[in-house]
Amino acid sequence: MMGVGLLYHLALEGWDDCILVEKAELASGSTWHAAGQCPSFIGNFSIAQVHHYGNTLYPRLEEMTGQATGWHGCGGIRLAATKEELDWFRYVEGFSRNIGFRMQVVSPEECQRINPFIDATGVVGGAWTLDDGHVDPSGCCKAMAIAARRLGATIIEGNRVTDIRLRPTGEWEVVTEQGNIVCEHVVNAGGCYADRIGAWVGVHIPYINLRHQYLVTEPIDEFVEREEEMPVTRDSSCSAYYRQEQKSALIGPYETGSREAWPGEGGQDWNATHELFPAEMDPIMPWLDKVRKRVPILADAEVERVVNGAIAHTPDDNPLVGPAPGVRNFWLCGATSLGIAQGAGSGKYLAQWMVHGASEINMASMDPRRFGSYADKAYTSAKGHETYANMYVLQLPGDERPAGRPARTTPLYEKLKAKGAVHTEVFGWERPSWFSLDGREAECGFRHNNVFEVVAEECRAVRERVGVLELSSFSKYEVQGADAETFLDRVCANKVPIRDGRIVLAHFLTGRGRIESEFTITRLAHDHFYLLSAAVSELRDFDLLTQGMLETENVTVANITDEWGVLVLAGPRSRELLASLTPADLSNEHFRWLSAQTIEVAGIDVRALRVNYVGELGWELHVPMNQLEPLYDAIWSAGESLGIADFGVDAVNSLRMEKAYRAYGTELTTEITMVDADMERFVKFEKEHFVGKEALLTRKEEGGDLRLIYAQMASSDSDIRGGEPVFDGESLIGVTTSGAYGHAVGKQLLFAYVKPEKSAPYSTFDVEVLSERYQAEVLPEPIFDPENERPRS
Ligand SMILES: Cc1cc2nc3c(=O)[nH]c(=O)nc-3n(C[C@H](O)[C@H](O)[C@H](O)COP(=O)(O)OP(=O)(O)OC[C@H]3O[C@@H](n4cnc5c(N)ncnc54)[C@H](O)[C@@H]3O)c2cc1C
Repeated sequence: MMGVGLLYHLALEGWDDCILVEKAELASGSTWHAAGQCPSFIGNFSIAQVHHYGNTLYPRLEEMTGQATGWHGCGGIRLAATKEELDWFRYVEGFSRNIGFRMQVVSPEECQRINPFIDATGVVGGAWTLDDGHVDPSGCCKAMAIAARRLGATIIEGNRVTDIRLRPTGEWEVVTEQGNIVCEHVVNAGGCYADRIGAWVGVHIPYINLRHQYLVTEPIDEFVEREEEMPVTRDSSCSAYYRQEQKSALIGPYETGSREAWPGEGGQDWNATHELFPAEMDPIMPWLDKVRKRVPILADAEVERVVNGAIAHTPDDNPLVGPAPGVRNFWLCGATSLGIAQGAGSGKYLAQWMVHGASEINMASMDPRRFGSYADKAYTSAKGHETYANMYVLQLPGDERPAGRPARTTPLYEKLKAKGAVHTEVFGWERPSWFSLDGREAECGFRHNNVFEVVAEECRAVRERVGVLELSSFSKYEVQGADAETFLDRVCANKVPIRDGRIVLAHFLTGRGRIESEFTITRLAHDHFYLLSAAVSELRDFDLLTQGMLETENVTVANITDEWGVLVLAGPRSRELLASLTPADLSNEHFRWLSAQTIEVAGIDVRALRVNYVGELGWELHVPMNQLEPLYDAIWSAGESLGIADFGVDAVNSLRMEKAYRAYGTELTTEITMVDADMERFVKFEKEHFVGKEALLTRKEEGGDLRLIYAQMASSDSDIRGGEPVFDGESLIGVTTSGAYGHAVGKQLLFAYVKPEKSAPYSTFDVEVLSERYQAEVLPEPIFDPENERPRS
């Protein structure tokens, strides 16, 4: 499904010289045995776009191709057993408005009406999606194959790929049973075999193959008597889905205690096709019993058949769709537990990425490079089992799942944990979110909770005194060589610093002028630059740097992320604190904002950067990892009399919102240009060339259809998470990207992209948050310290 979905969309994009090689016959892998459900409801904005696209294509495929697809547009209903789940439904309902699928949050009585066969005891509401349903996976896959062939694509069945090699020319040589194929791009869409295919080219692919079962009953009288089809029902209290399969019932539970499909080494036999495992009823019985109680007409239904097949799970359960790390033109399209729902949409957006250099949607949550080498076998297995067991368990904001952790820690991890740090995981790193000084545990949810006041206190410490934050998770690179400056200048939209010790914020753009990445670039010497970027971008940015370089350029790039640790010291008393530990002159005259120096702090050589993301006087202190703890200890003892406090990334989010600092990954993504994001001051159009310049100039001249706004919103008990719809009266004018409560200013703050004509300062609009509308007003400048006096003080 994933391979064919891509083939069709590559052909649609005009690449009609692509070949899909299948070792057996189409759909003979995991696809044929799938239950075929295609839910619109999924808690991730980008992946919901992928699903939605499939649900618009699949109903049309049969008419387009003449191939039966078995599309049933019966819709779906998801039942909530808790008020937190209902909040989640409201959140997804919000973003459904921008994506375009029909969804309503409904009462328990409505749930009962929509699915008359359930006993709604304990149901507190539901999410009703009206544009989805289920499809016959084989028929659907074959229909897309027909459509692809008509556009010129080639499919060779009964031909196994046995090896893939990189030629000195940079082309790929795909070795098959029927001969070799030399090509520019290779996509690994090998389903359960993807890991072994990746190994041929040295790419580790983090997913595991588990077993998943559904059973089909004998015909149910009540279904036979009724013309209307029951919607696909997803039920967290049973950890299961159930629907009609013709006049029978189909029930699929996600049990705890999941089992690997092929335990041990080796995996699936290369010759296997249409492989199923014998039924394993014991592990799923407790969940089946719950379904039987929920749907009394199924209580005595006989089971006619059980389908037990292989299903892939990644550590976060999102698929792997995009470039493989470290190799050029080698792509992944798979490792999905919802490949039927995702086949068409993944294909569409990956095809755009391959053909145009970027997709129109933000692919970060599917990009295979969101996992690093920390996602080894043990981690992937622990997380994969965890995601399987939690398919229907809502992960509330602030809820930290433990499997596989900690994967990446610094020497400060245990110390900060002992001080109350509640860590969150980013690219394997354990990063403090907030500090529980009184031992409290978060009462997780979508609304303000008992952590709100703790974060407020951390923000106050930074705004009024001094705070320290461990931020070693930054991705860090050293770019050196005679051509380092020319190279960076060619790939960045901003001008790289021309004086040693200066710092700039610079962006890499795609060929279409969209934002690919964001770096803080410090010039240490004329041929030596220190680059910092987001933790999640470590592999992506390394690829960007190394693959973006010309063969003729004399440049080396080293990824030093693991070797260097970082402390952020920020607040009005940070200079006083640091001055007590260093002989260096920290005055404004000698150590200016946006400059860097190597200074001695408590006897340790520190690369000090006068820059921060919280809008205060302060320094980022970069040291070799083994010096991180002594540096922290020295800072802490010197800071105690000044009221120093630890702070975490939750406080950072609030502080950066007060300063209207955009975040890479939310406001700044590959969907957006620097013009849309109102970031033109970081673009030097006067440079003769930089990647994406022409496209960006066109965007500037023509004007985009979206504009970033920064706004304050009427008080609500829930922060903006991104994805909430923005209305002008009843007309939908945009979408939020992120937000936070600004504790120093006592306001809900947000960023949103809206139609340019609605973006003028002081314009008002409504934001829908958890089904309630709140009025908001566009702010003309940062709400806190608009003149930027504090960081420069
Ligand atoms: C019981 C069950 C129910 C499910 N229900 C749903 C559902 O309702 N909705 C949903 O969206 N998903 C569902 N899934 C998941 C779904 O089946 C998979 O996510 C999807 O089929 C994966 O598609 P794929 O194209 O990645 O893999 P596959 O279908 O396995 O395709 C990979 C293909 O690559 C071929 N191949 C591998 N190696 C080579 C090689 N070396 N040379 C040539 N060819 C090769 C294989 O033969 C295979 O045909 C279910 C899974 C199970 C087990």
